[in-house]
Amino acid sequence: MKPFVYERATGEDDALVRAGGARFLAGGTCLVDLMKLGVERPDRLVDLGALAGVRGRIEDRGNLLEIGALARNSDVAAHPVVRAAFPVLAEALLSGASPQLRNMATVGGNLLQRTRCSYFRDLASPCNKRVPGAGCAAWDGYNRGHAVLGGSDRCIAVNPSDMNVALVALDAVVHVRGPAGARQILAKEFHLAPVLRPEVETMLQPGELVTHVTLPRTPMAARSRYFKVRDRGSYEFALASAAVALDVREGTIRAARVVLGGVATKPWRCEGTEAALVGNAASEAVFERAASLAALGAVPRKYNEFKGELAARVVARALALAGGPA
Ligand code: SF4
Repeated sequence: MKPFVYERATGEDDALVRAGGARFLAGGTCLVDLMKLGVERPDRLVDLGALAGVRGRIEDRGNLLEIGALARNSDVAAHPVVRAAFPVLAEALLSGASPQLRNMATVGGNLLQRTRCSYFRDLASPCNKRVPGAGCAAWDGYNRGHAVLGGSDRCIAVNPSDMNVALVALDAVVHVRGPAGARQILAKEFHLAPVLRPEVETMLQPGELVTHVTLPRTPMAARSRYFKVRDRGSYEFALASAAVALDVREGTIRAARVVLGGVATKPWRCEGTEAALVGNAASEAVFERAASLAALGAVPRKYNEFKGELAARVVARALALAGGPA
């Protein structure tokens, strides 16, 4: 591992002062892993542990749930308000990683989790995300786990997070602070597709810190579910997953959110599917028809042609789960 300077921030203001040229350290489950591989090579780490007293909280504010960026994934998944009012988030978190990792990993770190593309983690392979302009070994390589939506010939790496898919389905807002002050970013706009610059993965600017996430409390959020398909039953990333939220009144779908994971370079909002649901009966036939639109425009590579069909199936299953008896 490349030598680095380790610093402890005493608070949020101090963390922002120390941010220039450094990387923030929270749970470390992704960053430290990549540092050991030599993929991440920061000169300085700023440990955010001292912020956990304030930014590790989960606060019920009535019409909003505020989740601090340093809240542990396991605490969020177990929180009674999350389980009752935002079930898709609890299900998504519990479907990811292992209990030990969920006890360490934070919400902010999960938002910024980096891809599991094996070529990205292999210093001997060309990778535009790791070394801009180097090429993409996955394009003509073994790309079974890669994206069929939102990719470009520069990168087809999947965003690996389950939580991020749920946050988009819940219309979450990401709150950040930086040199220019505080601002808010919609979760659906937080991650960027790798059109020209695969190394730029989010809207976060240099020196900015994710402080918390807010979730609006809505009937749709309360009727939300996550369904994930993977190669083994636990401790595995998604081949395809879907987070859905439905507002169903008197049998009719009034509003819907449908978001795909595991098949796209960012959490993938399926607006065609949502439009096909709204105004129609919450029935299996409607769910199947709408789900068939989920992966329209998919561009597979040699080994991942199955992902378009798989995406439609996970959406149909998630809709059936969310659309069943409330
Ligand atoms: Fe790198 Fe992206 Fe290509 Fe993977 S898919 S090798 S992360 S550029």
